[in-house]
Amino acid sequence: MIIQLEEECSPNNLDVIRQEVKSIGYAGSEISTQFGKYIIAVGKKEFDIRGIGSMPGIKDIHRVSDAYKLVSSKWKVGKTSVKIGDDVFIGNGNFQIMAGPCSIESEAQIESTVQHLVKNGIKIMRGGVYKPRSSPYSFRGLGQDGLKLWYKTCREHGIKIVTEVMQVSQIEPMHDYIDIYQVGARNSQNFNLLDELGKVDKPVLLKRGISGTMDELLQAAEYIFSNGNERIMLCERGIRTYENAYRNTMDLNAIAMLKEKTHLPVVADPSHGIGVRRFVPQIALASILAGADAMIVEVHENPEKAFSDGQQTLSYNEAEKLYANVRKTLELKETLV
Ligand code: PEP
Ligand code: MN
Repeated sequence: MIIQLEEECSPNNLDVIRQEVKSIGYAGSEISTQFGKYIIAVGKKEFDIRGIGSMPGIKDIHRVSDAYKLVSSKWKVGKTSVKIGDDVFIGNGNFQIMAGPCSIESEAQIESTVQHLVKNGIKIMRGGVYKPRSSPYSFRGLGQDGLKLWYKTCREHGIKIVTEVMQVSQIEPMHDYIDIYQVGARNSQNFNLLDELGKVDKPVLLKRGISGTMDELLQAAEYIFSNGNERIMLCERGIRTYENAYRNTMDLNAIAMLKEKTHLPVVADPSHGIGVRRFVPQIALASILAGADAMIVEVHENPEKAFSDGQQTLSYNEAEKLYANVRKTLELKETLV
């Protein structure tokens, strides 16, 4: 059960509500976010919800039996739109493309990418400075120095930054240089990291684990929300199946279903989702029809020379064709009944 408290719920009223929750045999957790105050009450006994619902200090009360609660669409009216910086929104009808190289490689590469984004009206650049690599001998990113270079060029052009945070100790140093923290697939259930990202005032893009179920993804998001940060986006990036003809199996089903299960925006990552350049545009467009609110696309001036994930990275020309088709697909989607 989710009890939404009134902003001005007095300490006295709160005490009475706590007692009531206890008396029906429920365990209550109190949660305070940038947008509201909630009590999550977990228990099994049947009770008359109207008894609690009419108590002073309570705004609303909802039965949510799923393991995840605050990220569930069962209590929130409408869809969440996540605000990025002051002027960019994702979700609830606001679609954004987040494009950029897999890895940030050099100042020249940053400048070339930013020019490409500006030319195409893209407001968010994605790239990695801390790279989780399957092999320790692969390029692992330029780290904080790379991030500072990147930040400088992006700020000059009003471009927002989304990049992966791999561990708790990176959250604070990265904070002033980024607009969205990305949690990668390998860290999707790093609960310490999720707890700490719940305490920051920046949005989080949470990827689905390599073998993660939708429920696990939603419960991971619940960690962030229940620590105080409601600005979360979920990302489908393909899962591991028995099929090995491509890198991952892009689970379009999950995009459609997540949109029903949660009020949070759902982001598609077709680049990692299929991992084969020539199919990325098709899967990207299919993701929009499945319901995606935003999209990650890996682009590079010269994909063959990319330090990582070149095989799934689009050239600028290929990306521009995709952007045009994204616009057409969004229009088409509007007309579908
Ligand atoms: C990435 O986004 O570049 C990345 C490493 O993705 P994932 O965590 O989905 O593998
Ligand atoms: Mn990549």
